[in-house]
Amino acid sequence: MSLLIRRARLLATMDAAGRRLEDASLLIEGTRIAAVGAAAERASAERVIEGADLLVTPGLVNTHHHLYQTLTRALPGAQDASLFDWLVHHYPIWRHLDADLLAVATRTGLAELLLSGCTLTSDHHYLFPTEAAAELIDVQIGVARELGIRFQPTRGSMSLGKSAGGLPPDSVCQDEASILADCRRLATLSDPTPGAMLRIDLAPCSPFSVTPATLRATAALAREAGLRLHTHVAETLDEERYCLATFGARPVAHLAAQGWTGRDVWYAHAVHLHDAEIALLGRTGTGVAHCPSSNLRLGSGTARIAELLAAGAPVGLAVDGSASNDGSHLLAEARLMLLLSRLRERAHWLGAEAVWRVATRGGAAVLGRPELGSLEPGQTADLALWDLGGLEMAGAQADPLGGLLLAGAASAPRPRFVIVNGRVVVDEGRIPGLDERAQAARHNAAAAALLERARGR
Ligand SMILES: [Zn+2]
Repeated sequence: MSLLIRRARLLATMDAAGRRLEDASLLIEGTRIAAVGAAAERASAERVIEGADLLVTPGLVNTHHHLYQTLTRALPGAQDASLFDWLVHHYPIWRHLDADLLAVATRTGLAELLLSGCTLTSDHHYLFPTEAAAELIDVQIGVARELGIRFQPTRGSMSLGKSAGGLPPDSVCQDEASILADCRRLATLSDPTPGAMLRIDLAPCSPFSVTPATLRATAALAREAGLRLHTHVAETLDEERYCLATFGARPVAHLAAQGWTGRDVWYAHAVHLHDAEIALLGRTGTGVAHCPSSNLRLGSGTARIAELLAAGAPVGLAVDGSASNDGSHLLAEARLMLLLSRLRERAHWLGAEAVWRVATRGGAAVLGRPELGSLEPGQTADLALWDLGGLEMAGAQADPLGGLLLAGAASAPRPRFVIVNGRVVVDEGRIPGLDERAQAARHNAAAAALLERARGR
């Protein structure tokens, strides 16, 4: 299959030089970008998309999510809670999750991501109730394949229950042997080749829900199998206090002591960092998934993104789980990232170009995917095509890239086309084959069923 985007208003390449090409074409052959600019101009292709009103960017990359949480959005009783109280409110509900509910939740979340320009997403799934089928990640993989989004799920875990001094109830925790056995099984499904549609990583949940032994054993397994490592770190001051009291170390030091720094590791949040910790992340190449909405919603704080970037740490953007966002619109998240930086001193403000880079090639680097995140010949063809002709972009045409972030994204617009691996998976603003209202109705029934189970009906 070949596809030509002809004479797009602007191609924002996000290449190393940050080139922006006006009135430029892009040719895709198979799963790769074959030509950009003049070289693509006179090409013919099986499908041609006229680009007069289009801004073309690399697909956005989401580096942290909990897709199952789309079942418990905006839950009364937890809307105004900070992280620990919020978790304690949700655990007894989440423990009733099963494979069918997870499939519905994953379909909604992944569809929302695609419809916000995301082409590659991670997911952090750490909830494996004993009554549910053990192979929950496999269920998610099936849904991602069906929708055509590039998927890099992580096998999460919780092994430190309340009876042993952790935060979660014992009923949502697993023993370490079962966790590692499932991690080992999933490692065999991960595709290490560049351009892979499925890559799997390992992700013990957080310092307050996994034992140091689980952290060490998971790191050893990941490194043996060539998988990456992911966890929540330094999200709140409650977590910092917990780590100091329990392990005698701040969260990053605790993680580092278990071998959890390096180019194969990325942390979600990393909000409460000292200067030395930022330097450590930069020096070791440890990545960060920045989650602006979630940090605001739970009152967690403001991550020091400008300093992390200056230190050389890979930084990606993320919507985080849908019970603390409570949506999955990655472009809107990018706008919020820019705005959130403006709460800080002037020297730490982020501009549109910097935010776009974090949301595209930054995320690709965090997930270890250098073949993604930029529009260059040879790169894997993951793109978002944004309509510049709508009301939300009226009056914001002088700089389409900055305009889409500052003006357009305020209305959480849909991209007109999304291309993953050379395939059109969002076509004229819709996902072919997905009846959105029917999916929402199924989702609402699933969410109600989960709450009813939790109430013991
Ligand atoms: Zn999270």
